[in-house]
Amino acid sequence: MSVRSALLRTALAVILLLQWSCSEGTSQRRERGPVLMVQPLGAVPSAHVDSVVRALQREYRARVHIAPSLPLPERALTTVRTPRYRADTLIVRLRGIKPDTIDHIIGLTESDISHTKRAADGTIKEPRSKYQDFGIFGLGYVNGPSCVISTFRLGDDGEQRFFDRLCKIAVHEVGHNRGLPHCPEQHCVMRDAVERIASIDGTDRFLCLACRGRSGEGVVEH
Ligand SMILES: [Zn+2]
Ligand SMILES: [Zn+2]
Repeated sequence: MSVRSALLRTALAVILLLQWSCSEGTSQRRERGPVLMVQPLGAVPSAHVDSVVRALQREYRARVHIAPSLPLPERALTTVRTPRYRADTLIVRLRGIKPDTIDHIIGLTESDISHTKRAADGTIKEPRSKYQDFGIFGLGYVNGPSCVISTFRLGDDGEQRFFDRLCKIAVHEVGHNRGLPHCPEQHCVMRDAVERIASIDGTDRFLCLACRGRSGEGVVEH
């Protein structure tokens, strides 16, 4: 064998080895998506569950299980204003039933859910009558094991708008659980605390590039 052909063979072997490691790395990354579980709370239409599952599979390359429906826990019910279920209590309940094999569990309900909104100093935001039991679309904490989503406030502007909003809320709350805080990028699905329908409609369904590469810490709501 000439020196030249030996060099060529070595180069070819190195190229093949590089290709093998790249494809190995890619397949391992694909398999590393989170394992999620959608937990219907009360009666939830299967179309709503399926829509959330597809959004999470697409955005997080997640493996998503669907749990059998469970009743909403009575102890989460509050009548401070209209009857609502306290999102914090639901999240704690969900955390308690999450199997160890699941990274994050996502509660999904048609009932109204609420949360106490607090100012930076920890006191209830003013006006207190509005914020002590504030109706919300969803709640998830950064790096938390569970979050909860409600379709109660998603409006009746047609099916397309409804499902679009539902998918955005699901991606947003799971984004918090996956370590993402809110994002300053105007159209990012992690933008801002989502208090109004207009805020949801103003974002994309997707994480921006910065959010894709970011890991967060601390606690953020909504
Ligand atoms: Zn972002
Ligand atoms: Zn949020």
